[in-house]
Amino acid sequence: MILSKEQINRYLRHIIIPEISGQGQKKLLEFSVLVYGETVEEISPMIYYLSATGIGNIICHLHNVQGFESLISNIKDYNPDISLKLNDENELNNDEVKFRIFFGNINYITNFKKNVSVKNNIFIPSIISVYNEWDSIIAYFDNEISLNHFINNLSNEYTNLNNINKYNCGYIISYSILGTLCAIECFKKCLQIGQIQNDNLYLDLFSMEFNKIEQNNLESFIKKLCTVNYENINNNHIKEVMSQSKVLIIGAGGLGSPAAYNLALAGVGTIGLIDNDKVELSNLNRQIIHSVSRIGMPKVESAKIFLKNINPDLNVITYMDYFNLENAVEIIKDYDIVISAVDNIQTRYLLNDACILANKPLVEAGVLKFNGTNTTIIPNEGHCYRCLFPNLGAGSGASCSETGVLGPVPGIMGFIQSAEVIKIIAKIGITLKNKILMFDAIDFDFMNVNLEKNPNCPVCGKNPSITTLQTYDLTCKTKEDNKI
Ligand SMILES: [Zn+2]
Repeated sequence: MILSKEQINRYLRHIIIPEISGQGQKKLLEFSVLVYGETVEEISPMIYYLSATGIGNIICHLHNVQGFESLISNIKDYNPDISLKLNDENELNNDEVKFRIFFGNINYITNFKKNVSVKNNIFIPSIISVYNEWDSIIAYFDNEISLNHFINNLSNEYTNLNNINKYNCGYIISYSILGTLCAIECFKKCLQIGQIQNDNLYLDLFSMEFNKIEQNNLESFIKKLCTVNYENINNNHIKEVMSQSKVLIIGAGGLGSPAAYNLALAGVGTIGLIDNDKVELSNLNRQIIHSVSRIGMPKVESAKIFLKNINPDLNVITYMDYFNLENAVEIIKDYDIVISAVDNIQTRYLLNDACILANKPLVEAGVLKFNGTNTTIIPNEGHCYRCLFPNLGAGSGASCSETGVLGPVPGIMGFIQSAEVIKIIAKIGITLKNKILMFDAIDFDFMNVNLEKNPNCPVCGKNPSITTLQTYDLTCKTKEDNKI
């Protein structure tokens, strides 16, 4: 047997995807990646998703190692297959490391020049992930000349070295999403899936715009990253409104995990979590807020432990229940904004209708295999879920438990949901209102499609036929069907 029984169960949602299978999972477990980063806080989302994917050997070279010991013990409890350690550059053995990730803000990456070479002059394939507040670049390099050229370009363009406040929401969003994208790239490099050499992206999470970078326009995107400034954003004000806001997350699974994680980091005041399931081993390829020692515990309780550990001031309200017709109105009314982290159509319709009727913004996402979608529903302003999908019957669409999902994919989508929530609460940036964002991890492509409100929509149209919540056919629901 290639994998142990326990490993098969742990990685089940991966290995039912034919591109991965047991052989692929074995390769991932034997793979080694070297991560260069500044602080433990910044690399943590990446480390969680590398571990979720089952990338077996993670070696970190950090500017500030404070908190690393506790990250090691958390990862050990999350996935005992993973070896996570610090390494002094002088001790690195080239034969071990198959991939490098350089990860940090512009200041950190521009100061990196002296350390880029690895001994014996063997170049290890590398990605650089560099971020400013809300904006970032991820780029792949297969030779030292182009990698150094990128870093030199960055340091020539970037002069404002003293203006880094990396603990504001924009940075948290950037390093979480970017770190998770790095985990996807590492996975693809190991299994040789996709064209990673073309996976260069510029991400503007403030406006939700994503651009593929070609070799010939790399310099213009570096310039853009270095000059973009959000000085007119009052981060103290954002902190204040975040601390007073209440966010409800329906589902403490694949999407709910990253969404709650980031909102806790960003300093939201209250998170309500509703989920009726208990933690299972097969959740742990993607649900990063749970762990082995909490298997069998209600997910909402397990999540609360993780979130309070990140932010002891956070108020977490738990509901161990299904979100249903009986409790929908009563629960939603106490919150400012709702995150949909479920993967069945019935609950999505119910949530959509409940949020439209209660006039609460709803931040939606869905995932399957290597793909994900995000959209944001603002009642009275933009489209709703029924405008987008008027006629999906019970049982439409496959769920992750049937088809599988690559763990970091819901990571990206859930982190984007948290970005949407922050922008709505703080009234900044451009959201996915009247848009659907589609992500393809294999092609490394984000695509926005514009949507319109349907004037004949049964719930948000001019003459709505749905004015109270109604019963939904739940006959096809299976045990894990409503949780990603
Ligand atoms: Zn509608």
